[in-house]
Amino acid sequence: PNIAILDWMMPGLEGVQICERLRKMNPSRYVYVILLTARSKTEDVIKGLDSGADDYIIKPFHPEELKYRLRIGERIIELEQRIISMASTDYLTGLLNRRAFMERLEAEINRAQRGYNHLGIIIADLDHFKDINDIYGHQVGDRVLQDASRCLTSACRVYDFVGRYGGEEFIICLPGANINETCNIAERMRNMLREQRTVLADNTEVGVTASFGIADMSSGSAMSSDDLIKKADDALYQAKGKGRNQVVIADSK
Ligand code: GH3
Ligand code: MG
Ligand code: MG
Repeated sequence: PNIAILDWMMPGLEGVQICERLRKMNPSRYVYVILLTARSKTEDVIKGLDSGADDYIIKPFHPEELKYRLRIGERIIELEQRIISMASTDYLTGLLNRRAFMERLEAEINRAQRGYNHLGIIIADLDHFKDINDIYGHQVGDRVLQDASRCLTSACRVYDFVGRYGGEEFIICLPGANINETCNIAERMRNMLREQRTVLADNTEVGVTASFGIADMSSGSAMSSDDLIKKADDALYQAKGKGRNQVVIADSK
């Protein structure tokens, strides 16, 4: 739960003990705790707040007061969620930033390894992107990056996720996809991107292509995220060397 209202005196674990344990556990999401209790002495209030409660309400309580105190909790939780979302999103493209992508990738790799599933990875790097900046300016470059992000995302399946890996580099995780499926999706991305145009105010159309390196983790593999990314990155390097605007599959070994 995001918000918990706890009594102090309860059989088994008391409210204050729950609070202490919760704060020690430090779960990934904050839990806003209100202690609601008949214990009204100042020492109790201090002990309750010291245990990690965010608020302390003495019984008998007024329902309206509880309602408004819950609103405070809601505001804190909303603020926390906004901060988390801002910290995991790339400002320009709205994609996952590198750190957030890597966190999700680790989780997906663990899940795939537990379930003996495949997992595909695609790294895409826009071709000669520096030229777009040089010719049209940085702002147009930014728009092309935004359009490319949308394009890559729309070529994905619902359970895939896309991150901005670096300036004009993107990374996509495809849970459950083997190398053939990963290749098909990378080809779909490549074609969609190749056909897309960013239209400027004077109707100039700016197009861009990308090179793709792909790799997969087969079922039963004990690869790490670093191994997987390294393989896809090597393949991307080959795609650049072979003339760009193409998909290269990592060597299987
Ligand atoms: P290659 O085909 O070899 O990948 O060539 P490239 O020009 O795409 O690669 P290079 O690494 O030389 O240049 C990448 C350029 O991407 C340089 C950098 O200014 C630009 N870039 C990186 N991040 C951003 C951004 O957020 N906005 C804009 N407009 N440009 C960016
Ligand atoms: Mg690059
Ligand atoms: Mg590039």
